[in-house]
Amino acid sequence: MNPKSHVPILVVEDESSIAELLRFTLQDAGFDVNIAATAQAARQALEKALPRLVLLDWMLPDTAGITLLNEWRGNARTAALPVIMLTARSLDEDKVKGLNAGADDYVTKPFSPRELVARIHALLRRQAPSEKNEPKSIGMITLDEERHVVLVKNSPVDVGPAEFRLLQFLMSYPERVFSRTQLLDRVWGDLAYLEERTVDVHIMRLRKSLGSAADYLKTVRGVGYMLKSGVES
Ligand code: CA
Repeated sequence: MNPKSHVPILVVEDESSIAELLRFTLQDAGFDVNIAATAQAARQALEKALPRLVLLDWMLPDTAGITLLNEWRGNARTAALPVIMLTARSLDEDKVKGLNAGADDYVTKPFSPRELVARIHALLRRQAPSEKNEPKSIGMITLDEERHVVLVKNSPVDVGPAEFRLLQFLMSYPERVFSRTQLLDRVWGDLAYLEERTVDVHIMRLRKSLGSAADYLKTVRGVGYMLKSGVES
């Protein structure tokens, strides 16, 4: 991963000395760091923008980290947010609780900065199938990221840059329904000024570009959109 990629990370940690150590460590590794000292501040930070990953302390002054994690997992917008739990607890039972609550990984304090950064990189790689560069195919659609082309039945089709990213994202999660808000967050990078209608416009353009493969893009009424892994012909 490019160390200058400025991947945003939210650190939820109330002990200021640890928060500052984390800020230093992560900035040094090329991440953009935002710190929330309470669960409430973390909720507000997530409402504003979704980070690529959250480091979540178990013991917070207002709400337990694990309760916060449960909230996020229960909300469509944050359900897939990569979360590493951070805690002084080293009991196996607590690790199991954290992982059962949906944490992607678990780091025990005192942590080694190098190990923490390595775990973050590993989790980001796991969460970002779209960053792998080999062409992806779903049914009659192929997307080649390196050549920046989309093929339908092996013939290149014209796809605009936003539609390309939209298709790239949906092809990473076939058969999964995303709301317009989720697509704005994940494809357009949480640009709050964009309206949900924007998604509809780009879906329409993408369908037009896909031509005979347009039926792969399915509207799920009242929910959003999904890319089917196959269509009846
Ligand atoms: Ca704490």
